[in-house]
Amino acid sequence: MIPIAEPLIGDEEQREVARVLGSGSLAQGPEVAAFEAEFAAYCGTKHALATTNGTTALHLALLAAGVSPGDEVITTPFSFFASASSIRMAGAKPVFVDLERDGYTLDPAAVVAAITPRTKAVMPVHLYGELCDMDALREACDTVPIIEDACQAHGAEAGGRAGSHGLAGCFSFYPTKNMTTGEGGMVTTDDDDVAAAVAQLRAHGQSERYEHLQLGFNYRMTDIAAAIGRVQLRKLDGYNEARRANARRYSAALADCVQVPTERRGHVFHQYTIQSDARDALREHLTARGIGSGIYYPALLYEARPLAEFAALTPRAAALPARVLSLPVHPGLSEEDVGTVIDAVRDFAPTA
Ligand SMILES: *Cc1c(COP(=O)(O)O)cnc(C)c1O
Repeated sequence: MIPIAEPLIGDEEQREVARVLGSGSLAQGPEVAAFEAEFAAYCGTKHALATTNGTTALHLALLAAGVSPGDEVITTPFSFFASASSIRMAGAKPVFVDLERDGYTLDPAAVVAAITPRTKAVMPVHLYGELCDMDALREACDTVPIIEDACQAHGAEAGGRAGSHGLAGCFSFYPTKNMTTGEGGMVTTDDDDVAAAVAQLRAHGQSERYEHLQLGFNYRMTDIAAAIGRVQLRKLDGYNEARRANARRYSAALADCVQVPTERRGHVFHQYTIQSDARDALREHLTARGIGSGIYYPALLYEARPLAEFAALTPRAAALPARVLSLPVHPGLSEEDVGTVIDAVRDFAPTA
């Protein structure tokens, strides 16, 4: 079986975890501080603040940006649930707008049209590892702050790395992402006030121990997870290069039989996603040959019951759930694996 995703954990991660377990510091401590400093330097931001996962990173970034009940946050309907549930967790209303033509990220023109006096933030999602068109989006947003959902785009770089383009950037280190800590998340920002607010909110609203200035959460990362993250961060560029190399091989071999993705805007290929009219049959054919694949995502966010009241008209996005299919592109694939996937797709869809 060729899996759709595979976390790569090596001896170095195991040694570092063993070292931290022996150090006596297990919860947020020196490893988290070191991971934050290294992640901020990598993204080119002044601050990075570690959290329990990507969802809590988004929740805290929204709260730190001042998003509160009654506010509106513009985002995409074609993403993972947390992109919009985090907006609801902050008490605000997700305003779903359509995607750019022939792409998977927000259409800046649709964002402009949706801005109202209640718009408190815009949340682009760098879906599949491709940056949103951030120059156009920044222009569209004018003074409205941007919070990047960079949970699929660690290391993507076009005019600055993912996480450095707006007021804040949010990352996930779930095992299937471009780098992992098991579970984990990060908020990046250049803004001192946002950083201070995130630091306070992730630790029960404390400014210092037992000095509770507001209600908060326990959204802290452990030193055990941070130790894994520090090693993974050093490997990230190599992982991303392997993802891009696999993607290029697919595109060169498959462009004449399925709709392949375009490599642009710093793409780090969290997913390699094709489109096909015969998606379901193609998926079954791959499964029968022992090839894992994924449908990201089988429905739009406003089709989920808790978000149904925010349904919108987004025809470009609406065409995607029935057509998209992600092929294995992770750095654990061998050259032979990539060839096996190519042969299987071509066998299903031979050229005339
Ligand atoms: C993974 C992901 C998240 C949530 O991250 P978790 O660490 O699983 O909470 C949010 N948004 C997007 C686009 C993601 O892919």
